[in-house]
Amino acid sequence: MTDFSISPALQEKLDWIRAFIDREVLPMDAVFENSALYNAGHAASRAVLKPLQEKVKAKGLWGLHLTHELGGPGFGSVELCHINEILGRTRWGPITFGCQAPDSGNGEILARYGTPGQKQKFLGPLQAGEIYSCFSMTEVEGGSDPTQFLCKATLEGDEWVIEGEKWFSSNLRFASFAIVMVLTEPDASPHRRFSTLLVPTETPGIEIIRNVGMPIEEIGGGGHAYVRYNKVRVPAENLLGERGGGFDVAQSRLGGGRIHHAMRTIGLARRALDMMMERAVSRTTRGKRLGDHQLVQTDIAECWIKVEELKLLVLKTAWLLDQGKDDESRLWIGACKVRCAQVAMDVTTKAMHLLGSLGVSNETPLALMLINALSMGIADGPTEVHQMQIGRNLLKAAEPAAGRFPTEHLPAQRAAALEQFEKQANGLHPDAETR
Ligand SMILES: Cc1cc2nc3c(=O)[nH]c(=O)nc-3n(C[C@H](O)[C@H](O)[C@H](O)COP(=O)(O)OP(=O)(O)OC[C@H]3O[C@@H](n4cnc5c(N)ncnc54)[C@H](O)[C@@H]3O)c2cc1C
Repeated sequence: MTDFSISPALQEKLDWIRAFIDREVLPMDAVFENSALYNAGHAASRAVLKPLQEKVKAKGLWGLHLTHELGGPGFGSVELCHINEILGRTRWGPITFGCQAPDSGNGEILARYGTPGQKQKFLGPLQAGEIYSCFSMTEVEGGSDPTQFLCKATLEGDEWVIEGEKWFSSNLRFASFAIVMVLTEPDASPHRRFSTLLVPTETPGIEIIRNVGMPIEEIGGGGHAYVRYNKVRVPAENLLGERGGGFDVAQSRLGGGRIHHAMRTIGLARRALDMMMERAVSRTTRGKRLGDHQLVQTDIAECWIKVEELKLLVLKTAWLLDQGKDDESRLWIGACKVRCAQVAMDVTTKAMHLLGSLGVSNETPLALMLINALSMGIADGPTEVHQMQIGRNLLKAAEPAAGRFPTEHLPAQRAAALEQFEKQANGLHPDAETR
């Protein structure tokens, strides 16, 4: 049975979260820059953020994505879909609820692969919101093909020594530790060459070459580190997961992260649609409201359909996860990743266009939302790579045609059907009446 209803208990939480986000979190978006998001030393934002986080904790919603065992509210993925959609309307929503990327994904892999000592040292403070973290994997030469990565670590006595560069290591400058993907087994098969290491950021030898920013930020003033690891030494026990198991660790992290991004993207796209609709009934041109022009109506209809299609796709994926169908859900998570970036780009672009000069200005959140949408098609692997993986997986189940023509070749189907009917007891020939 397919049931889209929302239980009264969840609805009560959704109503509270929606009111809380609109009234108390969105004002943070209006005042504080992205650069303050992960900066624990940014006093003004923390003075507002901390009390909001306390309210979330008091409501039992802290660490939104976490299971009961890990101290979270234990929501299923379908429930998280509805909640994350609301959080996705804001930049400060996720951090207020303790489920911000990349910390949420990093926490998930620590929970899955961490030793008891690693969990105590890194996971506990991370989940309490006391520290931030970084996932340092991409390299300058190309992020879409991780088998090319060069940053390496060698075991010297009881220490790993890391040497090399990484690119776009988000939030490294504010993080207490980074999970760094390093080449440790150069002679193994390509997908068994890499391992992940836990690297406290106070370790000597970590040199941030530049903090790369988004187009709205000044050069060098962004949040994504271009970093050099100059013989950075960490204890052997900082290996996260198995030697050569770096891809397994990265994949398990990115899977959860991608679906949560997709859920939040529904909220981003719906916010752009809301802005379009308000504008359509507020502004008049040639004697009628924008929304009374048919081309505007079709644009709004198309955008709404795209948002609802995306939500259905994400809900189905979330349902698969809730059923424990992790293998099957991988394909669907890839589909969500592809579609959420496209829908967010399409709807945000249409909204910017409908708001005219204001839409492309820096006086609405739309330009920032468009950059986020574009980033979503690249971060955690570009759209094309996910499309390729989906196509390849689907084709595994495909069978070649038995003969020279496709199975759906109509003349052959008709001949086979006629033969089958002639063999049937009533002997009625389907062509009898037309002869
Ligand atoms: C906002 C943001 C945050 C990020 N945060 C992190 C982070 O915290 N840690 C981290 O390690 N990395 C991070 N990244 C990096 C991200 O993972 C990479 O950008 C991504 O993997 C793509 O790598 P690339 O940028 O080198 O692009 P490239 O690999 O150079 O790809 C560029 C383009 O080439 C095309 N392309 C690539 N491969 C194929 C293919 N097989 N078939 C067809 N076309 C293809 C696509 O159009 C693609 O967009 C972040 C990126 C962004 C935008």
